[in-house]
Amino acid sequence: MSVESVESVEPIRQSRVRHSPISVSFEFFPPKTAEGVEKLRATRKQLAQLNPKFFSVTFGAGGSTRDRTLETVREIQADGSDAAPHLSCIGSTEASIRDILNEYKSQGIRHLVALRGDLPSGTMDAGEFNYANELVAFIRKETGDWFEIEVAAYPEVHPQARSYTEDMINFKRKVDAGANAAITQYFFNADAYFGFVEDARVLGISIPIVPGIMPIGNYVQLARFSDACGAEIPRWLRKKLESYGDDLASIRAFGLDVVTDLCDRLLAGGAPGLHFYTMNQAGPSTTIWQRLGL
Ligand code: FAD
Repeated sequence: MSVESVESVEPIRQSRVRHSPISVSFEFFPPKTAEGVEKLRATRKQLAQLNPKFFSVTFGAGGSTRDRTLETVREIQADGSDAAPHLSCIGSTEASIRDILNEYKSQGIRHLVALRGDLPSGTMDAGEFNYANELVAFIRKETGDWFEIEVAAYPEVHPQARSYTEDMINFKRKVDAGANAAITQYFFNADAYFGFVEDARVLGISIPIVPGIMPIGNYVQLARFSDACGAEIPRWLRKKLESYGDDLASIRAFGLDVVTDLCDRLLAGGAPGLHFYTMNQAGPSTTIWQRLGL
């Protein structure tokens, strides 16, 4: 059974709690093929019905997707939705970032997700930016208040951080440089998010911190991703997912239950919205949305 057909036959379970409307956003990667472009159009059309605040589009390491990110964002804007391109700075010069900012301004884009990014292994030239706070400061210096700027946050600590406290202080640098809101790395432990938000508030960080939500579709892929980005899959969840082997339908069904419960807890605990890492698929995010009664 294909992934698409599993999505389409997934029954909609009733939500236990009805949440008030919240701000929701969906993240895409810029497709590489004509088929991918078509598929993303269909995904976007379906997700647009949920009235998202914005669609964001990732930016490949070192600017490798620069044109495709711009193309995808242009199409989203042209269809009347708010598009927020991601922009990573590692390996870039000030001139190249200035160029991209000017291009976005000329397209009427007013929303960015500003990141450091990761250099592909073997790449030596780090460019003129070291950290995302420098990018945020540069965007503000060059373009004033033109852009609404989102930055990344890590409730379970960025994998390269020396400590939880230093990572939090570094998060504050981005906020002090002018970030308007933050989106977190995904996680499956709601308490990690609540603790992070509480500690951020103690440090005087008052911007919205929106949890990033990763629907569970493919366990092998999820485990690989999580190891790379430092997101923890709790032992009970790992074991349960492993027990399904390659039974994709069961993984998806169970994953939907787990992630819906997580969202339920996050919203009940005051999360200001949800940002879905869609992997360019509409089915899982839509089902979670419906189950939450949003
Ligand atoms: P930073 O905030 O710069 O932090 C990186 C590390 O450096 C942390 O350990 C931090 O504690 C430390 N640090 C930060 N500032 C300082 C400082 N001034 N002095 C000393 N240490 C410091 N990657 C992509 O390539 N493309 C994307 O489109 C993309 N989208 C993402 C979207 C979201 C919502 C998230 C959560 C991540 C995304 N990433 C993306 C991944 C991201 O680029 C990586 O996690 C990267 O390793 C860190 O980026 P950052 O912006 O959080 O970096």
